[in-house]
Amino acid sequence: MRKKVIAGNWKMNKLLGEAVEFVEATKNIVASTEKVESVVCAPFPYLPTLVEKTKGTDLKIAAQTMHFEENGAFTGEVSPSMLADIGVTYVVLGHSERRELFAETDETVNKKAHAAFAHKLIPIVCVGETLEQREANETMNIVENQVKAAIAGLSEEQVKATIIAYEPIWAIGTGKTATSEQANEVCTHIRKVVADTVSAAAGDAVRIQYGGSVKPANVEELLGQSDIDGALVGGASLEADSFLQLVEAGA
Ligand code: 13P
Repeated sequence: MRKKVIAGNWKMNKLLGEAVEFVEATKNIVASTEKVESVVCAPFPYLPTLVEKTKGTDLKIAAQTMHFEENGAFTGEVSPSMLADIGVTYVVLGHSERRELFAETDETVNKKAHAAFAHKLIPIVCVGETLEQREANETMNIVENQVKAAIAGLSEEQVKATIIAYEPIWAIGTGKTATSEQANEVCTHIRKVVADTVSAAAGDAVRIQYGGSVKPANVEELLGQSDIDGALVGGASLEADSFLQLVEAGA
């Protein structure tokens, strides 16, 4: 049985006080659920405080991106060793907003995945097609290529530990969720790609989230699908109550 993962991606939202209030309101409640991992992907300045506040609880803290180099002349960037050093445990890689607005590529996502594992960070690798690509029937191809590129050169154990988030770009922040069948169809394909390129065991173990307008009203149906092991949630993860309902649905 794959353990479900509910991750809230706050993106560029909240001030420090609001971030602290959120984790204070959720950290002890998520600790009571054993079937689901709960993760909050917070802006960089809040990470040390949130890691500190959630110590000893089951609420895990993630970064929303990172560089792949250890250190050096990369103004404004944050390295994997910095994240590991402050106790961050997960990192989102290749989110479509970063691919589109900040020049993230399949190649940098792959370098970052290697760097994450070198620092014992669990990568949440995002993949997904645009509306144009879906309408041109390119979804499976696009997603397959993104997945293969992201996991290239990782060991079988590392692939097993990777979380892949399938986020169709047309469903992000639009209120348009993929139907659970559409979402599952792609997640099933992703699992097959991992099984075919790495091993059957890796395909079986890798956890695949769906993301794109997930909310308490649709999460149960999505999580009920055969190949969907969790959700990466933007808007509906900003309120503590709503986040707790999402976690509850995974439990
Ligand atoms: P929304 O849940 O706001 O559509 O965002 C999805 C997302 O991009 C999560 O990473």
